[in-house]
Amino acid sequence: MDEHHCTDDQLCERCYGQAVRAKDHQAGVIGQCWAERVCRGEFRAQAGWPENDPKTVAIARRLVRALARDPRLLDALARACTAGAAAWWRSRPAGYRVEHSAARAIWALETDEHEHERCMVVEGGERCPRAPEWLVRSEDAAWDDYAYVCDPHRELVAAPGHTVTSVEQGKGETA
Ligand SMILES: [Zn+2]
Ligand SMILES: [Zn+2]
Repeated sequence: MDEHHCTDDQLCERCYGQAVRAKDHQAGVIGQCWAERVCRGEFRAQAGWPENDPKTVAIARRLVRALARDPRLLDALARACTAGAAAWWRSRPAGYRVEHSAARAIWALETDEHEHERCMVVEGGERCPRAPEWLVRSEDAAWDDYAYVCDPHRELVAAPGHTVTSVEQGKGETA
């Protein structure tokens, strides 16, 4: 006689073990993608992933919520998720390791009469030769009021809080 009748939100030992084995990897991959997204932002200069930080765990639980109805399973998958994020963070590609302050220090903006025709970014003493495609503006008085930049330099210049609008060639407004 089959006496097995556990439910999705209250798994027995055996079903819990099966569910963890089945979904653990997926939760880890969700964590890797999460870490990669975070690493594109201001947080990228952090040396380590705050794996056991309550806020991190809370976000991880939200990210894997669709995979589990059982509270114990949700806990296990949240751990797998933030562990996957931490693993990605430790081995993240060199391109993600640029310290924010260092990135700021190695480039500057040049303002001249050609700013509508040429990206304003200067790196290593060389003015970028590309045409600007984006106008980046900031409300922050401590920063330059605006910058005309090419597409590859858009991410470098447009920090959070800046507005980015597309520039129609040759029709830039005079600031
Ligand atoms: Zn069961
Ligand atoms: Zn450029």
